[in-house]
Amino acid sequence: MHYRPTRARINLPAILHNYRQASHLAPKARQVAVIKADAYGHGAVEVAKYLAPHVPAFAVAFIDEALLLRSAGIQKPVLILEGVNSAEELKLAQQSDFWPMLHSANQVEGLLKSDGLDDLQCWLKVDTGMHRLGLNPVEAQSWADKLGRKLNKKPVLASHFSCAEEFHSETNKHQMQQLFALAAHLDCQVSLANSAALYTLPGAAVGWNRPGIMLYGCSPIPGKTAAEMGLQVAMQVTSQIIALRDIEAGETVGYNGRWQASQKSRIATLAIGYADGYPRLTNSSSQVYLHGERAQVVGTVSMDMLAVDVSHLPQAAIGDEVEIWGQHIPVTEVAGHANTIGYELLTRINQRMPRIYQHD
Ligand SMILES: *Cc1c(COP(=O)(O)O)cnc(C)c1O
Repeated sequence: MHYRPTRARINLPAILHNYRQASHLAPKARQVAVIKADAYGHGAVEVAKYLAPHVPAFAVAFIDEALLLRSAGIQKPVLILEGVNSAEELKLAQQSDFWPMLHSANQVEGLLKSDGLDDLQCWLKVDTGMHRLGLNPVEAQSWADKLGRKLNKKPVLASHFSCAEEFHSETNKHQMQQLFALAAHLDCQVSLANSAALYTLPGAAVGWNRPGIMLYGCSPIPGKTAAEMGLQVAMQVTSQIIALRDIEAGETVGYNGRWQASQKSRIATLAIGYADGYPRLTNSSSQVYLHGERAQVVGTVSMDMLAVDVSHLPQAAIGDEVEIWGQHIPVTEVAGHANTIGYELLTRINQRMPRIYQHD
């Protein structure tokens, strides 16, 4: 039971719709559903349970996230995007049907030294330009050969785009061509596209794709709305008005009086603040949605509360529900006002925010 009227409603059918949209964009490929960071704040176990009948595999960042899925009874293979580091983790991976994406000579050597891993399906991360993780294409070729001799299954060769949200990017094309050349030479399957690349570089969306953010109904392309991309918003964060007051022109709201009323104004206080994941360092244009209209966030966001100017909404009353982000206020918009991206706001949703799941 949660008495505080602040929650995140998670629309599971919307996530399935978005997954199908990814499949629709790349009908010949397979899509691994990326649910790292607690499914971008949507709840990895709930999301995985709902998607499991429809997806070939899930992806998470590290093995602890994968083990959490297993302890919740999820049985689909789980791709581990940052690979595994110890002999113990390798053994667990083999036993649990995890697919480690090995990204360094250290990780590959660890595997080559271990016994009893013949059936492990491993992936090999190739650095084609992101320069974060991965072996360069020359190294990757020799390690892939060795892995091919040791294991029953060839590694899937994977790479990650550094500019995926850009259309007509020469960098993306160059990265793609490097991976394709290596894969053709080694006769391996490939994995390149994240959400954005499914739209910007359809040629890369072959083999195994790795859509993440789009599953949650967040547009992966700056300047394009989720609806334009055929996506349904999966998270709606709402709170309520817990206090209302009228203030005079010249009076200020919140800490340090950062906002001053230029005219007589009605101020509503909402039960959500930066400890719930709402960005404190937001500029003065950030908005919420109530009574079919937008209202301006005013003053500094507090830990547990924020204030909005509802002078144009005479019907506003204590107890009214307010959308913080969701269908009407895209999370990417709130993020933009805080100089960040939707990914960050979604993944910062924490235990304090009850999640309510809609299954149909
Ligand atoms: C997180 C991640 C993805 C998913 O990216 P989105 O932009 O959320 O679609 C894909 N691949 C790798 C390697 C990742 O780390």
